[in-house]
Amino acid sequence: MKFFSTKSPDTKVDLRTAVLQSLPPDNGLYMPESIPALPSNVLENLEHLSFQDIAFAVARQYLSDDFSDAETLDLIDHAINFPAPVKSLTEDLHVLELWHGPSLAFKDFGARFMAAVMSRLVEGEDQKLTILVATSGDTGGAVAAGFLGVPNVEVIILYPKGKVSPLQEKQLTTLGQNITALEIDGTFDDCQALVKTAFLDRDINEQYQLSSANSINITRLIPQSFYYFEAYKQLQTKGRGEVNFCIPSGNFGNLTAGLLAKRMGLPVNHFIAATNANDIVPVYLKSGEYTPRPSVQTISNAMDVGNPSNFRRMENLYGNQWEEMKQDIYGYAYTDDQTKDAVKEIHEKYQYIMDPHGAVGYLAALEYQATHPGEQVVILETAHPAKFLPVMNPILGDIGVPNRLAEISDREKVATPLNIDFESFKNWLLSRKA
Ligand SMILES: *Cc1c(COP(=O)(O)O)cnc(C)c1O
Repeated sequence: MKFFSTKSPDTKVDLRTAVLQSLPPDNGLYMPESIPALPSNVLENLEHLSFQDIAFAVARQYLSDDFSDAETLDLIDHAINFPAPVKSLTEDLHVLELWHGPSLAFKDFGARFMAAVMSRLVEGEDQKLTILVATSGDTGGAVAAGFLGVPNVEVIILYPKGKVSPLQEKQLTTLGQNITALEIDGTFDDCQALVKTAFLDRDINEQYQLSSANSINITRLIPQSFYYFEAYKQLQTKGRGEVNFCIPSGNFGNLTAGLLAKRMGLPVNHFIAATNANDIVPVYLKSGEYTPRPSVQTISNAMDVGNPSNFRRMENLYGNQWEEMKQDIYGYAYTDDQTKDAVKEIHEKYQYIMDPHGAVGYLAALEYQATHPGEQVVILETAHPAKFLPVMNPILGDIGVPNRLAEISDREKVATPLNIDFESFKNWLLSRKA
């Protein structure tokens, strides 16, 4: 399988380049040269396959030029080692829980798969691979957990001091081993600027083989299509028909992965794009005008994105035709007050605790069903509610914390404080190699 950049479709690169480069030099996004069809014997037998069987069948369509089936199996075995269960709220409204991985958010699927692919690509090489990642919270935790203990790879995380939640900070700073945390006295944008400048610096690149683990890496997208098949399978076995997926969205990676699943043959009726006040894509779906703007802060902050990075991939999949995209995708947006009311309503009606991102999805699912009565909708629940206690507890009272999270709050934070000037960061990087 070769990959092309959305900005120059005629230039194709191999898997290794697409993965280690992450972002093409022309600033486009890597896409598979063709979307492979899942063999019909797999699609027709989903209900007899385990989640790992399904993940393997999908992954090998993309990896088989570069990895043997045994290698892909091994990779899936390590990366996709937790479930994605569907819970039903009503006959036709369902929740796909994507938070059963180590960082309690769906980003674990992408991060773990990417870590497994990258480590295999650099296996046996002399030089260690160093992943630089700037995080505003969730991504860093998933990437750190994904790469923990992976041989020949180290991860350096830059996070903004005082601007990630206490639990998120613990997830970034307590792992040790091949994970190093830098606490930057600045904003997320400052962290991102340091990473970008490091990639262009000659002295650093002489000492390090650098790569990035940001959300536009194609290997974060591929595994996110696994669970669309898995969810469909779980509904099918309950004898249900046409299925729609509702995706709480920020950078639209999750939704784009759903589009890939549909192109691979999964019979999805519609996708429902649910956003908070950052409603650039719902506006586009209604008007045909794509107008990025600065993000606004909300209580579903992992979706506070003003210029969704996967939008160009979505456009590419529809041949840049707005009319075609809006046949497949519905878009709805909600305020924080509506979201809080939804958290309360879901708890009262169904005794189910949904995080603020999932609650935005719930509102969109209901709005869609109002005009499509009787259709099945699966809402993607993108994170565990306990990751958002400052929002959840004032609405529902103390919702508690699962053991996995409680454990890390006792661990000791280890982070190196740094200023935002590039020279300090560069000196720190070079001095480790001296
Ligand atoms: C990252 C994230 C999202 C947004 O996902 P995209 O793929 O960027 O659209 C939604 N919810 C949670 C909890 C997240 O961490």
